[in-house]
Amino acid sequence: MTSAAALPTSATARVPAKINLELIVGPRREDGYHSLATVYHAVSLFDEVTVSAADEWGVSLEGPHAQGVPADATNLALRAARRLASAAGVEEPVHVRIRKEIPVAGGMAGGSADAAAALVACDHLWGLASGRDELAEIAGELGSDVPFLLGGGTAMGSGRGEVVAPVLARGTFHWVLALSACGLSTPEVYAECDRLRGSRRVPEPTPRRDMMTALRSGDARALASALVNDLQDAAISLRPKLGDVLEAGIDFGALGGIVSGSGPTVAFVVENNEAALDLAVSLTASGTVQDVRRATGPAHGAHIVAAPRAD
Ligand code: ATP
Repeated sequence: MTSAAALPTSATARVPAKINLELIVGPRREDGYHSLATVYHAVSLFDEVTVSAADEWGVSLEGPHAQGVPADATNLALRAARRLASAAGVEEPVHVRIRKEIPVAGGMAGGSADAAAALVACDHLWGLASGRDELAEIAGELGSDVPFLLGGGTAMGSGRGEVVAPVLARGTFHWVLALSACGLSTPEVYAECDRLRGSRRVPEPTPRRDMMTALRSGDARALASALVNDLQDAAISLRPKLGDVLEAGIDFGALGGIVSGSGPTVAFVVENNEAALDLAVSLTASGTVQDVRRATGPAHGAHIVAAPRAD
């Protein structure tokens, strides 16, 4: 621990959203989760989480995607802060302020991102200097996507997604994200995937070689043809309009497109920044999507951006 005099009065962590470049869904496990082989990719759409000492535990929200996020004890960032406090023996409460740019229930792991940011911010505020492994263990208990969002970048996820390993990835990819105003529930999308599969036997998931080759080459065209998401049909079945969005993006020149995670965000990969701008303008003008954002990946995981001191 750092000496109290040197500790900041608040700490702000910035955290990216994720998309899944590959999401292979295996059989449903006994604990209700599905085993996964996934490739996570952090993109430059960021939430910010600020923690500061307070008289009682609390959370408040601001920003364009604050609506629909619980401002009570169920908030994942607040749960993360309390979980770290109890693991580290910290008794002073904090207030957690979240600036939400990541859409809620968008398949971009916004809640998990806020939890990862809260862990990093509280660790800094309290001067704990926990190792990444210690934080990753707590992160895995909070949610499957939380460990990845600590580190960001591009990484393989296995288990239910919480076992994260680095992959060799080269270069920067350019994305256009088609956001929806209304989210999709992750459990409902998995249930729909199970329903569509019926009694078909599902093999244990294994990563695909063409995705690893595409990432190693840094070639956006190879990446576009390697994109795969086993939840995509289920998301389209629940929200048929997503099929039209995917088609529109390709018609307007995207190299490839995919529903992100459980949706409804659709991510399109393009050649460069100029192509991203063209596609964003075309999609917006077409009226097919409610909100369009450009982003690049990979982005860094949760990291401190401000930590003012009293003196
Ligand atoms: P994933 O891709 O991990 O399945 P998602 O991006 O589809 O998640 P989230 O934005 O993480 O979905 O939100 C899922 C639910 O989690 C929301 O409906 C909300 O009620 C709850 N939640 C709890 N805390 C948060 C938070 N800090 N930010 C967003 N949602 C939160």
